[in-house]
Formats: sequence, C-alpha cells, structure tokens
Amino acid sequence: MPTPPASARPETIAAALGSIQSYAHGGHPELLHAIADYVGVGPEHVVLGAGADDLIMLCGRSFAGPGDRVAIADEPTYPMYRIAAWVAGAEVSDESPVLTFCCRPHNPTGALVDLPTGRPLVVDEAYFEFCRDSAASLLDDGVIVIRTFSKAFGLASARIGYAIAAGETAAELNARQSPAPVSTLAVSLALAGLESPPDVGPTLEERERLAARLRELGLEPLPSVTNFLFVPLPEARAVEQALLRRGLLVRGYDSGIRITVRDVRDDDRLVDEVAAILV
Ligand code: PMP
Repeated sequence: MPTPPASARPETIAAALGSIQSYAHGGHPELLHAIADYVGVGPEHVVLGAGADDLIMLCGRSFAGPGDRVAIADEPTYPMYRIAAWVAGAEVSDESPVLTFCCRPHNPTGALVDLPTGRPLVVDEAYFEFCRDSAASLLDDGVIVIRTFSKAFGLASARIGYAIAAGETAAELNARQSPAPVSTLAVSLALAGLESPPDVGPTLEERERLAARLRELGLEPLPSVTNFLFVPLPEARAVEQALLRRGLLVRGYDSGIRITVRDVRDDDRLVDEVAAILV
C-alpha cells in the first residue's frame, strides 16, 4: 500500500501509548464487538490473532498433530498453510485430511476459487475487502474464516487479524491461542480502521488500469478480485530478479509474477521496467 490510511496515522495510537505501561486486563471486548458487527456475527464467534499468519498457525496446531494429514487447495498458494502443517507435525496430503486450507480470494492468482468440500475448512480471506465475497455464512458447516487488517486496512506491521468460527470452535481456538497475542496499539489501530472502513474503489480502478497497460505490452494478466495481478510469463523468476535489480519488488513463481497494485506513478514505472526487461 503506497500511503497510510487514517487508521494508520500516529495520532490514532496516542491514548493507548499513554497507558502502555499497564497490561490490558480482560482482553479486548471493544474490538471483539466491533469485528462482530463488521462481520455480522456475535462476539463469541471471534478469535483475535497477531495477523492472519498467527491464526493460520493456531488452526494448524489446534486441528492437526503428528501423523495427521492436512490438505491445501489450489497449490501453489500462500506458503503459511504448509508451514502450519509442518509445525503441527502433520503431512500435506489430500488423503483423509483432518483439516483443509483454502485461500479465497486466491493468492497468487487473484481468483475467487471454488470452496473445497473438505471439513473442517479454513478459508483465508486476507483479501476479502477487495471483493466482499465470503464463506462467513458457513460457520455452522465446519468453516473457519480468517481475515486480516494487513491489506485493505493498511495495518500490515501492526500484526492484527481475526478468525470467525462457530461458537464452540471459536472457544476451542481461543483456549489454544497464545497468551495476549495482540498489543493495545494494534487494537487501537484496528478499532480506528473499523470506524471508517477503507474505500477500495480507487485500488480496484487502478488494478484495471494497470491490467490494461500490461495487456498493451502483449501480456495477459489473469482476472483478479484482489489488489494484485498475476501475470503469466515463461521466464518469471528471471523477470522477478531483473525487477529486483531495478529496485522493484514483485513475487515470482514458476509460471508468472504477482504484482501488487500501488498508485499510477509506481505502477507506470513498473510497466516501463517490465517492458524494458522483455524487449
Ligand atoms: N494470507 C494471505 C493469503 C496473505 O497473502 C497474507 C500476507 N501476504 C497473509 C495471510 C498474512 O497476513 P497477516 O499480515 O495478517 O499475517
């Protein structure tokens, strides 16, 4: 994200900073309620974590153990599901999994992939705000939804996210969560974010402009419902490295690169550098 939104400004944390010397006893009920209202569930369905990654790890260790199998849909995808399985001592396999991870919208393609049938199912909705399509109506069907304040809310370094689950599952996850996983500073930032949720409209507009510019180069970015574009390329890792040498960071895969949408100036620079590399 190129510029910080209102929720990411220093004055937002002034009050929490003023009492940083004391512990926040009793958890963070204000944030639980604010998230519950935002999602449209009761606060007993909410589990807080230090970013979506923390909640992915929590789901891994809560559902899987040594000898178990964990399924990951639509690979290659976000690498943390594999790490969560590995840390739990489980194997990654589609054979009778005890848990399935699904990244929806999908990283890195940006697609709104089909939901797998396996249950329990963790649906990582890190990019929910960019498409507003959610599996949150399926909590009673063994679905756990994970979201984050890192993306649309612009709070990546605050490390705050949440899971939504059926009441009993949320209680079990909370019982297995680390002690005090989120700081009062992160809670203040998240509350400010929820008070005025981000307008992703300009990002979506810029995504389509960037896609059009890439198509002018003869490239074929995949349709995306997120704030990034996946561009299929034969020598993707070499292009990633060449861009890095020019000071531009994209994510390279075997079959393409993933470009995060920024602003007109940054995106035009990226298109120019890609054009120069591909000639
Ligand atoms: N899930 C997906 C699909 C992601 O792309 C990312 C960040 N790259 C995360 C989770 C991690 O988010 P957080 O910063 O909340 O840990």
